[in-house]
Amino acid sequence: MNELEWNLRSDICEVARRLYVAGFMTGSDGNLSTILSDNEVLVTPSRLCKGFLKPSQIVKIDKQGNKLEGDLPPTVEVAMHLAAYQERPDICSVAHCHPPILVAFTVAGLDLPSCILPEIEVMFGGKLPLAPYATPGSPALADSIRKGIRNRENSAVLLDHHGLLAVGRDIYQAAIKVEHAEAAARVIYYARQLGGEKPLAADSLEKLHQTHRKIVELESSVYAGYCHSPECEENTPQPAPAKVDEFELERIVHEAVRKAMAESR
Ligand SMILES: [Zn+2]
Repeated sequence: MNELEWNLRSDICEVARRLYVAGFMTGSDGNLSTILSDNEVLVTPSRLCKGFLKPSQIVKIDKQGNKLEGDLPPTVEVAMHLAAYQERPDICSVAHCHPPILVAFTVAGLDLPSCILPEIEVMFGGKLPLAPYATPGSPALADSIRKGIRNRENSAVLLDHHGLLAVGRDIYQAAIKVEHAEAAARVIYYARQLGGEKPLAADSLEKLHQTHRKIVELESSVYAGYCHSPECEENTPQPAPAKVDEFELERIVHEAVRKAMAESR
């Protein structure tokens, strides 16, 4: 196994551990994947708890879903991951989790409201599309995410009565989307215990959406330097230097949020 493959396997294990500790992948829930090469994808194994994975337990499959290497069966959601890669040649990693407050919103039949939190406007352009319910592990579930994830403005799709699918140039970027979406849902849930949410001032929104569009552009250059998505391979010599690191992206998000909060006071 070369260094790149070892690093990608280790990154999947590290991110899985963090998402498990955060409570987004309870028991054996959730699955992660990263493109390794033109026709090789690394995915988490089925059934095992994702909080304690070892790099050797990550399964290698091809883009048709056939197992190439590994002692364990791949996640049952392989088709959903492959559907995301088919729709988005600009991405290299997919994270699927069951963040409890986001799932609670879908179970209650409630949309995550827009125009409330700067983070939702900046990170997701104000909305998280909702894929209709389909049986976990089924081809119908894989197809259900296509429409939402196809739009490059969308980096995450809610799965009705189930969870969230997020994408990124690397597995860390996909996981950040999961964390931001669940954090927003938690704040809105708390606000409703305190009497309900109050919308942001309308004139703040356009500025936040401008930042969102900038982030969509920037994210194509924020990654660990070994993205292997087809589009990245086409446009970027490998290994690609990170033009903007994740701290810079965080700084841009925080600055936009700070300005919006100051203006709405
Ligand atoms: Zn699931």
